[in-house]
Amino acid sequence: MIQHFLSFINESPSAFHSVQALCGMLNEAGFTALNENDDWHIEPGQRCYVTRNRSSVIAFEVPACGLSHFQIVSSHSDSPVFKLKQNTEDVACGRFIRLNTERYGGMIMSTWFDRPLSIAGRVIVKTENGYETRLVDLGRDAVMIPNMPIHFNREVNDGYKYNPQVDLLPLYAEGSETGRLMAEVAEACGVKAEDIVGSDLFLYNRMGGSVWGADNAFFSCPRIDDLECAWTSMKALCDTRAEGHINVCAVFDNEEVGSGTKQGADSTFLADVLSRVCAALGATDSQTRALIARSFMASADNANDVHTNHPEKYDAQNRTFMNGGVVIKHNANQKYTTDGVSCAIFGQICERAGVPVQHFVNRSDILGGSTLGNIANTHASMNTVDIGLPQLAMHSSYETAGVKDVAHMVNALSAFYRTSIVMTGDGMFQLVD
Ligand code: ZN
Repeated sequence: MIQHFLSFINESPSAFHSVQALCGMLNEAGFTALNENDDWHIEPGQRCYVTRNRSSVIAFEVPACGLSHFQIVSSHSDSPVFKLKQNTEDVACGRFIRLNTERYGGMIMSTWFDRPLSIAGRVIVKTENGYETRLVDLGRDAVMIPNMPIHFNREVNDGYKYNPQVDLLPLYAEGSETGRLMAEVAEACGVKAEDIVGSDLFLYNRMGGSVWGADNAFFSCPRIDDLECAWTSMKALCDTRAEGHINVCAVFDNEEVGSGTKQGADSTFLADVLSRVCAALGATDSQTRALIARSFMASADNANDVHTNHPEKYDAQNRTFMNGGVVIKHNANQKYTTDGVSCAIFGQICERAGVPVQHFVNRSDILGGSTLGNIANTHASMNTVDIGLPQLAMHSSYETAGVKDVAHMVNALSAFYRTSIVMTGDGMFQLVD
């Protein structure tokens, strides 16, 4: 299973490519593409998906019994990365071309130095029939961000404050002629450079995935946060048939920059899809609200594994371990949505499926990260649990996680999609196989 995941990572150098690869899985599993611009006709038993901005996707399966509550897994398609600015090519020292970039999200900047990088994203192309979006990936070692030599930066090992406008600009070409990068981008997608009228292009780490350690216990690759949850949840959706409820798998862009875009978790995307599915199946407004109120969401975004060199940074009773199973994340201030009810529901589903569960809570004197569950809840409110898999080096350009956990998450989410969570009252539920 790990090799399948690593080939998905290879196919996913940008959020656009991740969503394209997820749509490929959905097509293979018999899902039909819907367009948000059209009126929807949905039949019981149908499997469908819809994208927004080509960087977010929501897939769902209506059971044969038709209208019912939703069981949703949500995750994110984006990772911290450098985006190419407009007029990106810049003559440096009169002899070279470097690229002007800006930060997207909060990456560990030092991990982008001294390794082959490439460029991927999307371009908007003028054609005979109007304008169209094309995905592009240079697919070769194209740029590099070299470190300063230690002789000019002798304090680098005592901590150095990187300036993204000065230290992180990648080297691309010899000479002083600009326009070569866009010519290469145009060639890679089979169009003329002058026909490209817009673009969203990003750097990515070219280093391939690696399975390593005694007993091959660990793996490393770029973008584990959060493509591990995106891939495992989509695989679970594709491999499980919905019975008694509507299964939904949502993968949102822009979590790393706060989710506040038209395709992020803080948009109408999820609420629009849920209410349009209900409407297409004949629900009244009141029935739709009742079904959403009875629904359940697992917000799946990776968790921090205890770091063996810094165990003091973690809560002693609630730290998590690679290959130890699915993590349920808790936070008293509700950065994570988990509460007693949602923890009980998800924990019991895992226990019945034989999937190990661990609990993560930050030290009380350390501010944790945030994710998308609580944001999505402000648009479509329902019982929600925050989960993830333990990983090391979160937001490095090359991250590390446990091989066994990939299967743990697929098994947990398959059980989640198989089990009907029947809310019998406020805080009262039954789990029906
Ligand atoms: Zn994440």
